[in-house]
Amino acid sequence: MAAIKYKRILVKISGEALMGQQDSGIDPLMIDKTASELLALSQAGVEVGVVVGGGNLLRGATLAGSGLDRVTADHMGMLATVMNALALQDGLLRQGANAVVMSGLLMPQVCEPYTQRDARRRIAAGEVIIFAAGTGSPYFTTDTGASLRAIEIQADLMIKATKVDGIYDKDPVRHADARRFVDLDYDQAIDQRLAVMDVAAMILCNDNALDLVVCDINQPGALLDLARGKSVGTRVTRKEAKP
Ligand code: UDP
Repeated sequence: MAAIKYKRILVKISGEALMGQQDSGIDPLMIDKTASELLALSQAGVEVGVVVGGGNLLRGATLAGSGLDRVTADHMGMLATVMNALALQDGLLRQGANAVVMSGLLMPQVCEPYTQRDARRRIAAGEVIIFAAGTGSPYFTTDTGASLRAIEIQADLMIKATKVDGIYDKDPVRHADARRFVDLDYDQAIDQRLAVMDVAAMILCNDNALDLVVCDINQPGALLDLARGKSVGTRVTRKEAKP
């Protein structure tokens, strides 16, 4: 069996990935499946951080579009990510993992506050840390929150686990001839406006030379395969400057 290639990995899980076949909400089966994939990663010796989205419950921009104040709507969106984080923490704890939610918004009765110092110490001690509330500020996404936390905890790799098995040149749901990329650099992804992550998130990764892999959360063992250096999904890297 291949050795572990990445010591510390940040996994971004979109809210949609947690709703399974439902139109919205949280599917308990998806919580259990996701928790077991994360636990396998942790048991293999990888230090695991997780950022969860909230799109299965609420998106601030959508709500603001129907008249709500944007900042209020984003606060509500961040609270949705806390709900998903608590569900995932519950799934992990039930499976015997040592997991904790750290939130960018303070709510001490519900979860722990995020500090970079605590997070680094505890992840190094083997705790699975679920980062909730994105960046803690409105007008951002959890993709940007994930890039930020990944850099702050000095992750060696960021994985975006979604319902799609990589990045395509066009929407694979609507186009039968869509082609999946194996490798990309951030400049290509930004220039070609590929549906990877928002630009702010990609710029953070690019500036800090953090590699990203987009893969399918429903592919069993994909996270562990990636940790062992196997090619899965689509990898996005920084284009190295020509000498
Ligand atoms: N959000 C925010 N600041 C952040 C991260 C998220 O205000 O740093 C809010 C925003 O309203 C967003 C919602 O939380 O729409 C849910 O996050 P996101 O849409 O990124 O979830 P995902 O698409 O990954 O499920």
